[in-house]
Amino acid sequence: MPLVLDDSETIQHPTDVSMRCSHPREDGTDVLMNAALSCCIRCRNAIPHCRDILKDSCSMKIARIFAHRVELPLVEGSYKWSGGKSVSVFDSTVIGVETDCGMVGYGEVCPLGPFYLPAYAEGVRAGVRELAPHLLGIDPRQLGVLNQRMDQALKGHAYVKTGIDIACWDILGKACGLPVCELMGGRFGESVRLYRAISQVEPDEMAGNVAGYRDEGYTRFQLKVGGDPDTDIERILAVSSVLRPTDRLVADANTGWTQHEAMRVVRAVREVDVYIEQPCLSYQECLAIRRHTDHPFVLDENLDSLEMLMLAKNDLAMDVVNLKISKLGGLTKTKQARDLCVSMGIAMTLEDSWGGDITTAAIAHLAHSTPEEFRFTATDFNSYVTVSTADGAPRREQGFMAANIEPGLGITPKMDVLGKPVFEVK
Ligand SMILES: [Mg+2]
Repeated sequence: MPLVLDDSETIQHPTDVSMRCSHPREDGTDVLMNAALSCCIRCRNAIPHCRDILKDSCSMKIARIFAHRVELPLVEGSYKWSGGKSVSVFDSTVIGVETDCGMVGYGEVCPLGPFYLPAYAEGVRAGVRELAPHLLGIDPRQLGVLNQRMDQALKGHAYVKTGIDIACWDILGKACGLPVCELMGGRFGESVRLYRAISQVEPDEMAGNVAGYRDEGYTRFQLKVGGDPDTDIERILAVSSVLRPTDRLVADANTGWTQHEAMRVVRAVREVDVYIEQPCLSYQECLAIRRHTDHPFVLDENLDSLEMLMLAKNDLAMDVVNLKISKLGGLTKTKQARDLCVSMGIAMTLEDSWGGDITTAAIAHLAHSTPEEFRFTATDFNSYVTVSTADGAPRREQGFMAANIEPGLGITPKMDVLGKPVFEVK
């Protein structure tokens, strides 16, 4: 069957192919190539010229990687958690990946200060400078190839790779015309339930803050404990007294208790309906506490790899896991962990260490593509900060959010907020 190409029109990139192909459809009509790549895929087997054109039109390479630095002040003024740690203004990095056809995807990495996980804000930018030259020329839609190249070029440093990986998912979605959540498994339910993190202050003030956020629609609350154990017992008791039976309370110590302190706390709140999250620094200490309490148990900081996830499952070390995108190295690797948890029957909190609109969009796509029975909670970080960095990010409605239905992450960065890139590699 002959193929007729209209040479008067130019191929720009796969979404802009507008040549007419005379290869008939089954109904006998001609089709535009961009409306029927299946037609051309059939043709290319027979006509080398067409194959070459199609190959060129469908190729996509990373041509530029750049980074913006943005400060995200907190609505509450500061955020405090275990060991006296606090942050008042987050230092976030928005990563852009641009292809040779001009398509741009975005990701974001925002560590919770330099003292939460082994990650820090300037490290994101230093790491991306190191990695970016190794990634030029790769097809950003081939996420397995991309991640293998990143791991070959830079050992560890999962958080550094996260922004690039998210940006390439954004590109994949835009190239396919599909939202990321549909590419990650589909959209489960109408929306995603959120939790609210309650910054560590005095017990009565924390109880008041929980009541206030419940009035805004939240039904899941994560208390920041991990301080003085006697005060933490008061915090848990004070907050639990203002909750309804359908609310859920998590006491997250963020590694802040020693083993004997954690043992005292779980015994003192034995009659309270509260989940205990990451009480101690090491996995072994947490496992010891887990084996001495019947509170539902969450692991977070220790679970930073599939290997640790498998070990913890084998030890029955938790009932819920907290998966943070930048802790695991991006959406590709968090999806691996998420899918493994679904297969093993483990519920999840799906989130990141912190971030603004772009991180929140990535969380929404990850969470919305997770079966509802395994979706414990997720986080709308963009409602914690005063600066909006992108249009199209999810907005909380009565304690829930939904992933955007537009292709990719569905966000458009606000360049007037981001300013000029702090660096670019091309
Ligand atoms: Mg946690």
